[in-house]
Amino acid sequence: MNTEFLNPRDIKSKTLSELREELGALGLPKYRAEQVYRWLHRGVTDFSQMSDLSKSLREELSQKYDIVWAEVERKLVSKDGTVKYLFRLPDGQHVESVLMHYHHGSSICISTQVGCKMNCSFCATGQSGFSRNLSASEILSQIQAASLDAGERISHIVLMGMGEPLDNYENVLRFLELVTSAEGLNIGMRHISLSTCGLVDKIYDLADKKLQLTLSVSLHAPNDEIRSKTMPVNKRWNIEELLRACKYYSDKTGRRISFEYAMISGVNDMDWCAKELAGKLKGILAHVNLIPVNDVTGTGYKKSGLDRQKRFVALLEARGVTATVRRTLGSDIEASCGQLRRKVEGGTGHES
Ligand code: SAH
Repeated sequence: MNTEFLNPRDIKSKTLSELREELGALGLPKYRAEQVYRWLHRGVTDFSQMSDLSKSLREELSQKYDIVWAEVERKLVSKDGTVKYLFRLPDGQHVESVLMHYHHGSSICISTQVGCKMNCSFCATGQSGFSRNLSASEILSQIQAASLDAGERISHIVLMGMGEPLDNYENVLRFLELVTSAEGLNIGMRHISLSTCGLVDKIYDLADKKLQLTLSVSLHAPNDEIRSKTMPVNKRWNIEELLRACKYYSDKTGRRISFEYAMISGVNDMDWCAKELAGKLKGILAHVNLIPVNDVTGTGYKKSGLDRQKRFVALLEARGVTATVRRTLGSDIEASCGQLRRKVEGGTGHES
């Protein structure tokens, strides 16, 4: 693993093999590293909680390292049971995460950056600019803190909160190694989805790693004219280049790509848009996830009506492209796609 972006004191961002090496260099036996690693991933927030280590070792570790944690600063519960957390990070910055309950288990949508650089016109996160990348341990801590608070095991993860995961590539890869490790939370790669606005160079790189991760691509438009207006990233890599990378990803990994498409009334939801989209996706192992665009102050966008949504699905399916309309969870607490910001401003959900 690349250690260039690693804060040497941040022990929870270290992989088990890195920890073995470091603790070995301190003259500790091999099994110690695994013991410490297991404690960190069980969610201890202080070395004093590592009860099977000697007091002197606990002290030595706390001199050398810090344990990163995400403090629940505020919590909103939706009528549908979805929970939105506002977490405070060690330096006082904030991110949001959303815990959702499905029949197959609990899924958490987590953030990878404080803010975002991508500036998609329909999304709240970019409106307040970009502050910094999250470390692997900060990404992981959102799951640990939510799981502890909710008193339940979280089985699925979506990297679809604040930020662009592939713009924080090294830390995200490190996080994936941590969260899937058998001595850690041991969450299967197939239970993890990563959503990107389309950083093509990183999609190729990720494909070559052949992880069994689900790649979601925020497409949101059938052509470059519409996409460049709503998503500035399209000026860097256009739809043709993006779809070429997607095809490469699914060829390499055998995994179906999930394309996200926020339906905005009068912007990208016309019949011809569905037809053009189906044409573009021909030959790619794909599924289209339609999301009636969620309200974000200042965008002026309106969501497509129910009839439009059904018609769009039918037009895609008739052309051999499978599509579903994503169920919206947590909209009463502004926890839906594109509504996450650094601070909870208002929201009518019940606070606890
Ligand atoms: N940066 C990543 C992940 C974060 S956004 C990405 O772009 O994919 C998660 C998803 O919500 C993306 O598909 C994003 O385009 C979508 N989204 C953003 N704002 C939205 C809105 N107002 N309504 C519906 N979906 C939105």
